[in-house]
Amino acid sequence: MQYVNCNLCQANDYQQLWRENEFSLVACKKCGLVYLNPRISQQETRLFYKGYLPRYPDEYLLSAENAFAKTAQERIGFLQQYNNFCKTKILEIGCGYGHFLHLLQERGCEVYGIEPSSESVSFTAKRLGLRNVTNAVLEEIQPVKDEYDIIALFHVLEHLQDPAAALRQAWEMLKDKGILFIDIPDICRLPITLIEYFELYTNQHLYGFSAITIRELLVQCKFSIDYIGNRPLAVNSFTSNLRVIARKDKKIITKDTVSNDFENVEQTLKLFISGMEDLRLQLQLKAEEWKQKGQRVIIYGAGFHTLTLFEFVDFSSCNIIGMVDDDALKWGSSLNGYHIYSPDQFIQLHPDVIMISSLGSEDKIYNRIKTLERSGISVIKIYS
Ligand SMILES: [Zn+2]
Repeated sequence: MQYVNCNLCQANDYQQLWRENEFSLVACKKCGLVYLNPRISQQETRLFYKGYLPRYPDEYLLSAENAFAKTAQERIGFLQQYNNFCKTKILEIGCGYGHFLHLLQERGCEVYGIEPSSESVSFTAKRLGLRNVTNAVLEEIQPVKDEYDIIALFHVLEHLQDPAAALRQAWEMLKDKGILFIDIPDICRLPITLIEYFELYTNQHLYGFSAITIRELLVQCKFSIDYIGNRPLAVNSFTSNLRVIARKDKKIITKDTVSNDFENVEQTLKLFISGMEDLRLQLQLKAEEWKQKGQRVIIYGAGFHTLTLFEFVDFSSCNIIGMVDDDALKWGSSLNGYHIYSPDQFIQLHPDVIMISSLGSEDKIYNRIKTLERSGISVIKIYS
């Protein structure tokens, strides 16, 4: 574990907002940047990201309907306002499974990527035909100066040990007036959901930016800002998405002072954290009740949200008899040791309780199965 100074204003003057295990989330009192302090070391972070991306079946990753492809399409539609994609040379830092780069390559751009996970690099080469994706973390790359028209970082900056250094490196690599395209979670707009909470309390997000703190950091790194605003992503798990279009500006004069967003950030995060703690308590009470009554419980939704749910609340003493998912690719496999059934099968297990564990589809699923309540089964929604 290591302690660091503020990445934006270099102060060592912070307030602890929250503590979970050995990690502590703090806000800088001089500028409002939120960061983990202490945190795991750079070396541990590198090891973690070599294998962090979840495995998905190739057929899912190749379908135009998956969340990655939809998100990439939305981003390209947005970027069109700022670039015509004519002979454009683009680098994506943390390109994941390569959907964004692949679509741009199809439109005639020259595309490059950097990605720490070797599994996704091999997918981008073998299945998407991307020849210029390097398996590395940013710090391992020798920056080429004035090379790219666009550099993109989507939900990457908040994971880095030193975002300021990364932005300076991106500045070097961009041509003058070149575009920096950033998506990050907005720390002041986190909805009260398990996914957002999970992002906060694991050690993956080392920083939390507000619209003010990301702007200040970019200006310090000699970028001018073309656009900054909230743009929910096509996938419903990132409603807090904050988007920035900035440009390398050789003429910009950096300020000596940094605007302070501390009060706003502190107040917003306190509300978020207390809301999440209320939710955790309610769910823990439910789990206790199921245990007392010896009820048979089904979890509806066998994905990332459910993995998070099991970290959030202790269900170990409940009688969970299985999971259900609408996605046929999951039927017959298991999650957290629980068998995954199809929506047609699970009723034969005679559950007493069905808990819907989904972000975004909660109401849709509820409306489909609420008639089961007439036969005495209790159907639980987490968020409403
Ligand atoms: Zn600071």
